[in-house]
Amino acid sequence: MQTVRGLHHVTAIAGSAQENLDFYAGVLGMRLVKKSVNQDDPGTYHLFYADAEGHPGTDLTFFPWAQMAPSREGYGLSSEVSLAVPPGSLDFWGERLQRHGVNVSPLESRFGQPALPLRDPHGLHVALVESQDSLGRPFTSWDQSPIPKQHQIRGLESARLVERDLVRTSSFLTEAMGFAHVGAENGWNRYGVAGGKSGAYVDVYESPTSGRGAWGTGSIHHLAWRVDDEAHQLEVRQRVLEGGSRPTPVIDRFWFESVYFPEPGGVLFELATEGPGFAVDEDPAHLGETLVLPPWLEPERASIEAVLPRLVMP
Ligand code: ZN
Repeated sequence: MQTVRGLHHVTAIAGSAQENLDFYAGVLGMRLVKKSVNQDDPGTYHLFYADAEGHPGTDLTFFPWAQMAPSREGYGLSSEVSLAVPPGSLDFWGERLQRHGVNVSPLESRFGQPALPLRDPHGLHVALVESQDSLGRPFTSWDQSPIPKQHQIRGLESARLVERDLVRTSSFLTEAMGFAHVGAENGWNRYGVAGGKSGAYVDVYESPTSGRGAWGTGSIHHLAWRVDDEAHQLEVRQRVLEGGSRPTPVIDRFWFESVYFPEPGGVLFELATEGPGFAVDEDPAHLGETLVLPPWLEPERASIEAVLPRLVMP
């Protein structure tokens, strides 16, 4: 059976776009590889942070909806994204985050990996996880990052889901998406894709009494899983359909092709193709510097730019 390859990107909801940029580029030192707009709501930015080249699997993206209420934690949502850092680098990170006044929790061990949980300026749960296998992934360090090369974030490691019913989601992950159950610890069940590279893990926690979670600032909007190409995407889409979910048709996102569907517990998933990638419409040396619109929004550029807040690189 064809499995997804791991996380392609994770998209979350932020408050102020400038505060989001200051944190992810200025404090975490990720590269803003694409400054675009939400294709369904072009008056809102869509900001993409990744490694220097925007490799699939390194990419954390945000819709800054400053007017939106904070999210409500509960089941049916992805509750945390973890980012891979090189083994031995959490001392560096702990000190740096403290110096920048970031809300950091005590160091944990998760499935044998040291993890440093933190909240971003808008309440999003993020964890930095020391990941041995992140060293072997496609990754290009960013030489203008404030973070020394040996400590830079190397991409997505995993995501957490909170669910009302573990079994429904677990069956869907294993039967439709190709995950295998790899372990359980402190109430979290871990699923992984064999041979997956970045973001090969998803951890699920059953919490039937927590109430339904709701999107808002500080919540994860969706998890996108990597597929090789359109044929692979259609094959997984078919199994998603057979698994009882209702996937959208293939949508052209210009930098990749996407299919969206809710998993049985309600978390929004996406299948995104590896290519063509972020360099398709920008010089790789100048990614993220100017507002990039997909061709079909180009005629509306003036009115779109007029409503977007001006962003200053940190
Ligand atoms: Zn997406």
